[in-house]
Amino acid sequence: MDEFGLIQTYFAGSRAAKEGHGLGHKQAIGIGDDAAVLAPLPQGQQLVVTTDSLVENQHYFSDVNPEALGHKALAVSLSDLAAMGARPWAFTLNLHLRSIRKPWLEAFSSGINTLALKHGIALVGGDTVRVQAEEAVVVTAMGLVPLGQALLRKGLEPGDELWVSGSLGDGAWALEHQPLAAKLLWPEPRLALGQALCEQQLAHAAIDVSDGLASELGHLLQQSSAHRQGLALVAHVQFESLRQCLGPELQGAVSQGRLSLEQACLCAARSGDEYELLFAAPVSARPSLRALSEQLDLRLTSIGRVEQSQMDQTQLNKQQVHWYGLDGKELLLSQEVLAGFNHFQEPQREKA
Ligand code: ADP
Ligand code: MG
Repeated sequence: MDEFGLIQTYFAGSRAAKEGHGLGHKQAIGIGDDAAVLAPLPQGQQLVVTTDSLVENQHYFSDVNPEALGHKALAVSLSDLAAMGARPWAFTLNLHLRSIRKPWLEAFSSGINTLALKHGIALVGGDTVRVQAEEAVVVTAMGLVPLGQALLRKGLEPGDELWVSGSLGDGAWALEHQPLAAKLLWPEPRLALGQALCEQQLAHAAIDVSDGLASELGHLLQQSSAHRQGLALVAHVQFESLRQCLGPELQGAVSQGRLSLEQACLCAARSGDEYELLFAAPVSARPSLRALSEQLDLRLTSIGRVEQSQMDQTQLNKQQVHWYGLDGKELLLSQEVLAGFNHFQEPQREKA
């Protein structure tokens, strides 16, 4: 099979390449021409674009379940769309492969196709190239938001409550103890939540947790403080609240005595690969968020609060988050926890 056969067999003929919002117009053209021509944007919508690469030996290993890899390749981009409050529209897929392996492609395309269909995002093109060394999968996803309504990192306000969706901590726990855990292999992008936060204008700011809560919270604070012309913001986060959203694997480890509750909270603070949403909302949004949580059947946990700092930006050290342990006393988190996942750190075996 050559490159054209591959595209035809696994992608151009798939339902994801025929259905999906971005192709929902008689003048729209998907895979097969020099470029795709998408449906006209609905009135008053902006296009949101995000791209992510998954590289062999960096983000996954050769023996990964290819169906899970297909799912994850799209899921990480959908998670970015969710964090912006966007609705999925269309995506492209670039494959860098050493060879054409039919069973692998069959499983990979099934993983990506199934997730695409679930969210109505159309596969509209891509590129397929042969490489000598590491393989890679690159997805570029497009979504729509109402004009001026995208959820941004820079929108935090003093008094906001900080919320996280779902659970945290199982990503890091799985990396070390259980590489086949669902959280690592089959992340579930929180699209319905992101869209509801955006459309109901419930949140001031949002980010998805791909590199760890502590590190993502740092991004929200830094960008929001910069946006406020140096009027710095700080956050207070309590382990007493964070313990309410520990992942099931982590809870299991605590109840078996393999971890203390405090260690589990630290794990939740540093764990990347979560693909949950961290967002900030005014206290007045609380009843709507409770209702939304019920409607979506998705846990939403308030983990802390944002405040105006007494110091200006130049006086603040990097630590804009105050963490409080289970005894209520302030904790100093290690640099490793605060930094989150760093792609340019010395390589280590990270994922199975
Ligand atoms: P070109 O030489 O113009 O780049 P290609 O031969 O690379 O064209 O691609 C032919 C068509 O197949 C294009 O519409 C392209 O978008 C699509 N395509 C190529 N690879 C993929 C892929 N991995 N997934 C989806 N569509 C693809
Ligand atoms: Mg090409």
